[in-house]
Amino acid sequence: MTADTWTAAQGPTADYVIPLPPVPAVPVQGCDALFPVRRIYCVGRNYAAHAVEMGGDPDKEAPFFFQKNPDNLVLDGIFPYPVASDDVHHEVELVVALGTGGKNIPVGSALEHVFGYAVGLDMTRRDLQGEAKKAGRPWETGKAFESSAPCGPIAPATEIGHPAAGTITLAVNGDVRQSGDLNQLTWKVPEIIAHLSALFTLAPGDLIFTGTPSGVGPVVRGDELLGQIEGVGELRVTVV
Ligand code: MN
Repeated sequence: MTADTWTAAQGPTADYVIPLPPVPAVPVQGCDALFPVRRIYCVGRNYAAHAVEMGGDPDKEAPFFFQKNPDNLVLDGIFPYPVASDDVHHEVELVVALGTGGKNIPVGSALEHVFGYAVGLDMTRRDLQGEAKKAGRPWETGKAFESSAPCGPIAPATEIGHPAAGTITLAVNGDVRQSGDLNQLTWKVPEIIAHLSALFTLAPGDLIFTGTPSGVGPVVRGDELLGQIEGVGELRVTVV
């Protein structure tokens, strides 16, 4: 089979040798239609106070990225405690949903590509991430596991604008554990999009988890997590 026939075989009428995997899709506030997810990018250490608690430098370093898988999304508020870890941490984050993409997007026009924003959790098997860091290995086992990306409904930018400030908090069973402000993001949303688009071809359906404020910590089964971002929305998750 040539590349041409392979390409021609794609499409709604193509036959597949196994069932077509479902396309993960996030609800949109005030709308019955869903936001289909293509890729999930995440920014590491993007609040100075969190960089310090992770043993890093509070000074501005170049942004760095890792990925989760679209099928890691949790959209029903249930986070099953994962296998292979005894130290799973919550990281509440502003999630950016791209409506359009591109390469080498300038900072000045980056926000034009944003469809909307959501509250997300970058759930992390901290023990496995720590081992990977120590060994200089990739982070996937710590970051891209089943159900590692709970995400709330997307608030369209046409409704809420582009929040550059506002409190971001995560409470566990009513106790606030993480607290910060979007104005403390080391790399702002337009800068994140510009940097990412210089490394990858961004496209409609991409989500970007923009990093977490300080106060990350472990969860246990039975915990009720409440992530809130002023002007964006909230996300409730139960650990089971
Ligand atoms: Mn994170």
